[in-house]
Amino acid sequence: MRHAVIIGAGQAGLALSHCLGQAGIDHAVLERGRIGERWRSQSWRSLRLLTPNWLNALPGSPYKGGDPDGFMTKGAFVEGLERYAWQWDAPVETGVDVISCKRTGDGFALHTSAGEKSARAVVVATGHCDRPVIPFAVGARGGLLSIHASQYRSPGELPGGAVLVVGAASSGVQIADELARAGRRVVLSVGKHTRLPRTWRGKDIFFWLCEMGLMAQRQEDLADPESARRQPSLQLAGRPDKADVDLATLQALGVQLAGRVRGVTDREIIFAGDPGEHIAAAEAKQARLLDQIDRFAGTATPYRREPVAMPSACAERLSLTDGSIRSIIWATGYARSFGWLEPLALGADGELAHRGGITGVPGLYALGFRFLRKRDSNFIGGVGADAKAIATEISCHLDCKGRKAA
Ligand SMILES: Cc1cc2nc3c(=O)[nH]c(=O)nc-3n(C[C@H](O)[C@H](O)[C@H](O)COP(=O)(O)OP(=O)(O)OC[C@H]3O[C@@H](n4cnc5c(N)ncnc54)[C@H](O)[C@@H]3O)c2cc1C
Repeated sequence: MRHAVIIGAGQAGLALSHCLGQAGIDHAVLERGRIGERWRSQSWRSLRLLTPNWLNALPGSPYKGGDPDGFMTKGAFVEGLERYAWQWDAPVETGVDVISCKRTGDGFALHTSAGEKSARAVVVATGHCDRPVIPFAVGARGGLLSIHASQYRSPGELPGGAVLVVGAASSGVQIADELARAGRRVVLSVGKHTRLPRTWRGKDIFFWLCEMGLMAQRQEDLADPESARRQPSLQLAGRPDKADVDLATLQALGVQLAGRVRGVTDREIIFAGDPGEHIAAAEAKQARLLDQIDRFAGTATPYRREPVAMPSACAERLSLTDGSIRSIIWATGYARSFGWLEPLALGADGELAHRGGITGVPGLYALGFRFLRKRDSNFIGGVGADAKAIATEISCHLDCKGRKAA
């Protein structure tokens, strides 16, 4: 029996493996695909990180390159993850799918695609962005393609013609930007979103968010933790020219804005009015944050961003049958599936129930999920501190179970 098994070899699983290795705790990292699989096979080709290089450090591996303010390609990030695993001799077993993980008398039994395994402690590091969510089914009609953002690869791999992108968080705006630049007619369905400038007062926006302690905020520090947990990802892109990508830049590229998708019938897709309410809310929220930064920076010079222009006319419905759109890309986020996991660890909503990554099942832990311990828990640069804390918890658990005596 292993002392610990980590499920998932993304940044979270590898960061914890490093910490367990440093603590001399015998463990294995089981990964159903390859290291960094989600970056490799569930994102578009041109994707770059939206966090600057200086922010993407993992435990024992600060950024040492010559471009701290740059944005890595996803390929470079995956290579970095592989190097990280290799450098610390991480015991990663790739191609091993964990099909079920259940409690036993002295630990956990794991049924995997590579046979039965057991461990005294198990860490679920299977990713916050686990299961793509498409809120409305669109049957295949007349060559219309309907895919999730995780299945989108590049403009040239879509059918010719106009594209509806649903969702204006980071994936939606980046994909809409790429398609519009490739000459496609793009309609963007806009719901709740968070607009932020890439740089503010000469620094990357993450500089301010980190300096002001916002990235390290814990749920209990927030006035409305539930709404913070459900906040869509930031409208940011890591372009080499550090340019903004938001509704204003997209409108300048000719992208048409529409409201939230309210429903889909056999013949059409229906939008909920216009996106003005969401645009106004995002502008107000951005203004509050930029004011907060300015007060923090002690800057008196007024400096405002151009507001997003309210679209004059928005489509209320689009035909699915007359060829006016040929592809729909749902940039509508992710859920998680834990049907394979010890049921006692799950809440009524099917999510892992935990406090700071510690579940109610002794020896079962979670890592890498949104707001696990703080706002940046699912960010590359945020998972390290959580991994150290969970490694300490595992060490205590194993000591209680008599690891040292064993
Ligand atoms: C498009 C996109 C861009 C992002 N850009 C950034 C960014 O720029 N900066 C940033 O900080 N964050 C970014 N994030 C957020 C976050 O960093 C990523 O989602 C990251 O992949 C999370 O790492 P992770 O290790 O927690 O999970 P994942 O990378 O999802 O790794 C989980 C691993 O577990 C494996 N797995 C799952 N279930 C099983 C099982 N049953 N058995 C075995 N293996 C299993 C999967 O194959 C996967 O490799 C982005 C997210 C997305 C979706």
